[in-house]
This record gives sequence, C-alpha cells and structure tokens, in this order.
Amino acid sequence: MAKNFYDILGVSKSASADEIKKAYRKLAHQHHPDKNKGDEAKFKEVNEAYQVLSNAEKRQQYDQYGQTFDQAQRNGQGFGGFGGGGGNPFEGFQGFGGNGGQVEWDLGDIFGDLFGMRQQRQARRTRGVDLEMQLNLTFEEAVFGVEKSITLEKKDKCPTCKGNGAEPGTKIETCPKCHGQGHIRTTRQTIFGNIQSNVTCDRCDGDGKIPVSPCHTCKGSGVLKQEKTLQVKIPAGIDNGQRIRIAGEGEVGYRDSQAGDLYLVMKVAPHKEFKRDGYNLYKDVPISFAQAALGAKIRIATLDGEIELKIPAGTQSGKVFRVNGKGVPHVNSGKRGDLFVTVRVIVPNKLNKKEADLIKKLAEIEGESVEVDKGLWDSIKDSF
Ligand SMILES: [Zn+2]
Ligand SMILES: [Zn+2]
Repeated sequence: MAKNFYDILGVSKSASADEIKKAYRKLAHQHHPDKNKGDEAKFKEVNEAYQVLSNAEKRQQYDQYGQTFDQAQRNGQGFGGFGGGGGNPFEGFQGFGGNGGQVEWDLGDIFGDLFGMRQQRQARRTRGVDLEMQLNLTFEEAVFGVEKSITLEKKDKCPTCKGNGAEPGTKIETCPKCHGQGHIRTTRQTIFGNIQSNVTCDRCDGDGKIPVSPCHTCKGSGVLKQEKTLQVKIPAGIDNGQRIRIAGEGEVGYRDSQAGDLYLVMKVAPHKEFKRDGYNLYKDVPISFAQAALGAKIRIATLDGEIELKIPAGTQSGKVFRVNGKGVPHVNSGKRGDLFVTVRVIVPNKLNKKEADLIKKLAEIEGESVEVDKGLWDSIKDSF
C-alpha cells in the first residue's frame, strides 16, 4: 500500500494549493538526488504526491477514491508496455487472456480504455506479419529479368483445417457470447461518468464465430509454420537494393484473416566488365595507338552480344562513345538506357625488333628524343 499523499507532503487534507506547493518545494529540495543527503526514492514519492495534489481535478478524484487512483495509473502504464509487441500476434498477448471482456468496475480497465489500450486486444485479429527476404541476382538477371523459385519458412494456412481453425468435419458456430457481433458493448460507471465501449469479444477474438472443436494441428489458430516455394517473376531493369512486394505472401493471419506481404530485396552481383548507374551501362575498351591514330572499326561486347564500334582517326585515350539502346531496360516502359564505352589507348609493353624500329622511326619524324641504347631495348623486350 502506498502512503497517503497528504502524509508524504506533510500537509492536512484541507491544505490550500499554496500550502501544498510550499511543502512540496521544501521536500523536493531536501530529497533531491543530486544533493549530498538526497534520497531518490523519497524524491520520487514527493513528486508523485505533488503531481496529484497540485492538480485540482486529480486531487478531487484522489480524495474521493483514495489509493485506487494510484493503482489505476500504474495499470494504465503497464498496459502501455505492450504497445510495441506487434511482431507475434499469437504469443505476445497471452497476458490479456484472463482479463478480456471483464465488465466489473475496475479502475485499471478505465485507464486502459482512456489510453486506447483496448485496441491491443484486437491484435490477434489483425493481418499477418510482413516478411522481408534477400534475393541474389546475377548482373544479367537484373538487367534482363528472370523467373526465380524461392523457398521460405513462414506461418501459412494450416493444411489440416485450411485456415479456419476447426477440426475437419466439425462445425463453426456463431459465437454465443457476442452473438456473432465480434464485440461486446459495455457500459461502465467510472469516475468520469458512464463510459460505453465496444470490447472485442474474448471468446471468439472478434471473429463472431468459433470452431466447435478446434483443429488439433494448429490448436484453432488456423496457422502453422511451414515451408513454401514460390515462383517469382523479377522484371527486367531491377537494381541492387530495390524491393519487390509480393502481396499476400507474408505470414497468414489468425484464422484466415488477411495475410501480410512478402518483400524481396534485390542483391545484384557486380560484373567483371560492366558497371551500372541507373539504366546506363559503362565499360572500358582498350585500343592500340595505331587504332587511335588512324581510326578503326572494333568489335566490342555488349550484354546483348558483340557490336561494331567505329573509332575515328585521332581518338584520344579516355574518349567516351555512346551506344544507344544497349543499356538497361526501364522497369516500367521497357525503354532501354545506353552503353557508354570509354576507350583506353594502350601502350604496348612488348615490342619486337621490327615494331621497335618503326616506332623509333616515327619518333624521328616527330623530332622526339627516344635515345635508347640497344641493350635496353633488348632488356625491355625480354623482361615481359
Ligand atoms: Zn488447423
Ligand atoms: Zn464472440
């Protein structure tokens, strides 16, 4: 039993608001945890008492109902703790089992209602959980699309009862408690006046119907963890990190309620030759000095096979050529991006005598200094 708030603050029941304030200030100062002789427990107690007695409305309730008020507040907070537990609708809410549908006069219940805690009881009826899964694709699969077979373990419809929760061959009846309504209307006397509320029926969990004899496989929930294999069409043009939603392929909900969705997150492997940026592809192509200087028609590999690329005479290393329509298809329109080819002029690292002589001759024409002794030429040639 908590102590009387008036005793905690050391004031009489008829104390004025001012007296309460003064008493509180003095005690809060005295017990403040930051102080040498502070006492955190007492400080909290004092604060709790002041929270109520400094508020005219709360004080009136406290005077009328005494300790229960404190209790109710605690209950209210306690229920709030369940707020985040949406992940597992079948196990997370067991704590409510015995409490559901109580219509007796209970302050804890009132606070539950006021703070919206009633909704928690309906969690069993909400749709199944969404799932997320990584899907590995090759670079080409992402560009051109692919059909994949994926297997996952999830809560799916119970194969015995097909999800309705009833033992095969047995009936599903209208719930006798709510008469098929799924909720029960209650009117309760509270400190704030009468509150009418619709409480989810605890007998049928809001279904309005119940299996006469619950399925032995799933114990009436209609769901069972099992493996499932799906055929999934991945559209051409999908990119690394993008998600595909497959509606209704998440976990199945309680007794045939709506299933969640499955999200596939694409993990695309890199390519040795091509880089991708959105719908465009990029690659480097080596060309020789002669090809760059004189111009050439070279064959280059695209993701669609080889094509011919015309290199004009006098092309510099690093020049970028755009090949229209050889990029990645847009996921929606199918229109394709482009391929950007960067040519790299490669300096030969292996020269035979004839090649070396020709290049030397070229240097002489250009008036460039390439005074290299014979021995060095040979060593360069040999070292590769
Ligand atoms: Zn079943
Ligand atoms: Zn019912």
